[in-house]
Amino acid sequence: MRLHFDPSLAENYSSVSQKIRVMSEAWVAGNGYCVYCGSRLVHFKNNKPVGDFYCSSCKAEFELKCHREKLNERIQGGAYDAMVSKIESGTVPNLLCIAYDTKDYSVKNFVAIPGYFFSKTLVLKRKPLKETARRAGWTGCILDISSIPSDGKVYIVKDKAVIDKNSVIGSFMKTLFVGSMDENTKGWACDILKCIEFMGKNIFSLDDIYGFEQLLQSRHPRNSAIRAKIRQQLQMLRDKNYLVFLGNGMYRLR
Ligand SMILES: [Zn+2]
Repeated sequence: MRLHFDPSLAENYSSVSQKIRVMSEAWVAGNGYCVYCGSRLVHFKNNKPVGDFYCSSCKAEFELKCHREKLNERIQGGAYDAMVSKIESGTVPNLLCIAYDTKDYSVKNFVAIPGYFFSKTLVLKRKPLKETARRAGWTGCILDISSIPSDGKVYIVKDKAVIDKNSVIGSFMKTLFVGSMDENTKGWACDILKCIEFMGKNIFSLDDIYGFEQLLQSRHPRNSAIRAKIRQQLQMLRDKNYLVFLGNGMYRLR
């Protein structure tokens, strides 16, 4: 995998955003791959509202976002209503985020986020465009990816080092189960994955995770049995081969 954009592609463009779009799209087409099956990515020819690439083999769709220097937790989305209906119909494309070095147009970080990690709580509505704007009344959105657990943000390039392709695909397989969950179940699963991530331990106890009871209660104020819910989620994660039960209230990550 080459890590540099090809600047010759940008010569005929004057705006910086167009230059970056052309160079980054060509870079993904030449160097990116489908994180589900490893096949080549193909660029959509038409200007589709959502989705810039699709997998030549499994047809998974990917949308590319480019950031200067570092990845952002708040990502510019398209139209708010379109995003919400994609979430409701389970057709959100996977996100590919590039953070590029502005000095030499090289890729610093390249991260893939499965589309099924997006829920409505992550979509923030922007103010509608003013009456005077060309698209008056159009309402865009911001995607706040800070509550997506790190298992849902898979690095393909990290700090200019290329991650082994098999390990990238393996990381994706680990959380594939989230894709079959409904909105509420998904919210809980992501919260528990985030708690496990905060602990930063490979082996932890039930008491460790009960330590997040107040935080989880504040996120789910109508739930009156947080501890039972935690245990249920841990069982779910065991059934999905994410965790191993060691006995005596101890758990290990797979
Ligand atoms: Zn594929």
